[in-house]
Amino acid sequence: METDEMSDTLGPLPSSTTNYVGFATLPDQVHRKSVKKGFEFTLMVVGESGLGKSTLVNSLFLTDLYCDRAVPNAEERISKTVGIERSSIDIVECGVKLRLTVVDTPGFGDSLNGEDSWKAIVKYVDDQFNQYYRDESGLNRKNIIDNRVHCCLYFISPYGHGLRPIDVKFMKELHNKVNIVPVIAKADCLTKSEVKNLKSKVIDEIEENNISIYQFPDCESEDEEFKQQNIELKESIPFAVIGSNTTIDVNGKKVRGRLYPWGITEVENPAHCDFVMLRNMLIRTHMQDLKEVTGDVHYENYRSQCIQTDKSAPMSKRTGRMKRESVILEENNEKDRMLLEKEAELQKMQEMLKKMQEQMAQQNQNQNASTTSQGNLI
Ligand code: GDP
Repeated sequence: METDEMSDTLGPLPSSTTNYVGFATLPDQVHRKSVKKGFEFTLMVVGESGLGKSTLVNSLFLTDLYCDRAVPNAEERISKTVGIERSSIDIVECGVKLRLTVVDTPGFGDSLNGEDSWKAIVKYVDDQFNQYYRDESGLNRKNIIDNRVHCCLYFISPYGHGLRPIDVKFMKELHNKVNIVPVIAKADCLTKSEVKNLKSKVIDEIEENNISIYQFPDCESEDEEFKQQNIELKESIPFAVIGSNTTIDVNGKKVRGRLYPWGITEVENPAHCDFVMLRNMLIRTHMQDLKEVTGDVHYENYRSQCIQTDKSAPMSKRTGRMKRESVILEENNEKDRMLLEKEAELQKMQEMLKKMQEQMAQQNQNQNASTTSQGNLI
């Protein structure tokens, strides 16, 4: 009877249920729970203004995240400091909800004194870690909103001869805090061989400067096609991308692209650029890994630094945390106290019961004895 009920709710059980415990449904349960809750992902885009960041984000997520953006003029940009603009949207596809947050950094590299541009971004990334760290140590740990930056698309200009000092500085300052994925912007401005040369120049400079960009995990699959895709992915870094907010008619088919007097560049055509590869990597294949590396590597680094600082911090700084810990301790003590009380009560009742049973047994014995002596008398 029980097995029938189970198979109704969990789907058909294997033919031999004798050795079937049931944990094979765990992945499904986790999956269902995650689908219900939805996924959160935070993407940061960094690069000097005009490199096509907003256009690429709109092309990636087929949305218009920047509809009310005001582009500052040259005079405003000279003195402008780096701003942080966060916009979130919920994207639902086949019943799966993705809460996407895009963090834009307008003003990066724009001002005359641009070498400090990275500071505001480092502060933002650290602030998100700090918020998570505080939430994690608080009482409401179940409902933490994860605003940590899971991936940073770093836009490299197609016009230079490799990395500029500001690119190197930014990546060096951020590479231990966030997964950096470098991209070559506006790849349609370059010929095929120029793209190839710029890619290898950028990779050489990244290695020379000991910069750790996001590393794709090694492929453990036996599937040859998947293995090949993984190799191609690794070899394509930095991705050469093209963005566009318009669709064009190509042989009766609507495609996202850029129309020039000499022809059309198609955003989603792998022969024209690496856009599809980048989108697949971000959304289909590596979103979870990007989140895991953020949590397990970058955030853990931050957390261990915090613990170190907490330990060496003067008493006054530690009081806040100690107060929180003492609240938890007090709660636990209260629970322990109540448990002990209940246990004592139970023991008392058991003793009373034992006494009553003994008394009753004694009474029975006395009664039996008196009946026997009465019998004897008669
Ligand atoms: P942002 O300031 O980095 O966000 O740059 P925008 O997305 O606002 O783009 C600046 C200009 O570059 C706009 O005129 C875009 O149409 C153009 N643009 C965007 N992406 C590309 C691209 O891939 N190739 C070319 N050639 N132009 C682009």
